[in-house]
Amino acid sequence: MKEEIAKRDRIIAELEKQNARLKEKIRNAKDISPIERISFARVRRLAREACMEIARQGKQFILSMGKTTRAFRKLRQIWDLLIEDDWYLSDIFPQLDPDRKEEKPTGTPCKYCFERILWVPSDWGSWFPIDADTHKRHRCQQYSERGYYAS
Ligand SMILES: [Zn+2]
Repeated sequence: MKEEIAKRDRIIAELEKQNARLKEKIRNAKDISPIERISFARVRRLAREACMEIARQGKQFILSMGKTTRAFRKLRQIWDLLIEDDWYLSDIFPQLDPDRKEEKPTGTPCKYCFERILWVPSDWGSWFPIDADTHKRHRCQQYSERGYYAS
């Protein structure tokens, strides 16, 4: 587990380094009139400058970088994150925050079905729930799996 966390931290550090360069590009790309409407194409252009991709999924917008994704209800939320002068990947993808493991509850009830669950980190810096007793992946009967990653 320790090794996995160290590996993940190295990956995050490398990504942050790459992104420092990309932020500069974004700073240039956002030099646009603020009253102009925020369109899907414009947010996608901004996202792509940061090596991210954006897709519509039902009423949500899914921002992704590799396997890391986050769902947003509004385009503007993505826009506001990306046009910040200084941002960390973990601002955009909270699951990439190396300190987040401290915040994750362990052995607490699933908020949807109330079974006891633990949160464990995956290889790519995300989290997934496992049943506290069996240690098998928690397949929630009350809530779709995607909801966990989106929240
Ligand atoms: Zn559950």
